[in-house]
Amino acid sequence: MIKDMNNNNLKNQTTMNTLTTFEFKPLPYAYNALEPFIDMLTLEIHYGKHHKAYYDNFLNAIKGTELESIDILDIFKNISKYPMAVRNNGGGYYNHTFYWEGMKAHGGGLPTGKLSEAIVKTFGSFEEFKKQLSDAGKTRFGSGWAWLCLDEEVRMCIFSTPNQDNPFMDIAEKKGIPLLTIDVWEHAYYLKYQNKRPDYIEAFWNVVNWEEVSKRYENALKVH
Ligand code: MN
Repeated sequence: MIKDMNNNNLKNQTTMNTLTTFEFKPLPYAYNALEPFIDMLTLEIHYGKHHKAYYDNFLNAIKGTELESIDILDIFKNISKYPMAVRNNGGGYYNHTFYWEGMKAHGGGLPTGKLSEAIVKTFGSFEEFKKQLSDAGKTRFGSGWAWLCLDEEVRMCIFSTPNQDNPFMDIAEKKGIPLLTIDVWEHAYYLKYQNKRPDYIEAFWNVVNWEEVSKRYENALKVH
């Protein structure tokens, strides 16, 4: 179901508990908000063209199928059953929203509270955690995503996925509930950093929205 359905439909769908909205959310900040770390032109094209194309193509891929009324996380759980266009564009649609919301203007610094404690307990120090997530992004061959997740054993783990795959997908080598991600496709950094993916990853740490990551961590703990 898409967001522009009329109110009566919305109400009925909610009552039947089958409402699924596939919304193309506004970017949570201005295109220039992440300067100088992520430049305005990159953000404009990345959100307005790349992300939007995944969204449009995802809607096209599920049009007229049962997937229109299934929650996207449930689609991911069974992604191996569906066409590649659903996997690539559904992943591209979801992952980018998650990536945008994990960043903010004047972000960065250090995590706090329970999140900070869990990071230090798991990785030994914040610096070691930062190194491991950065390395996951640097070493992903070709295009993909680096992830911090909470796995089924309620442990924090770091890994990367190829293309537009994500840790919810049944085909993922490792699975978990994502807490933070870095998009390492060239389109995420090429205009400003060209081939220097490590420089983009280093800059990314200046825009991390730790409050959002903390929220995700608290929510993930509730799921387990
Ligand atoms: Mn991207």
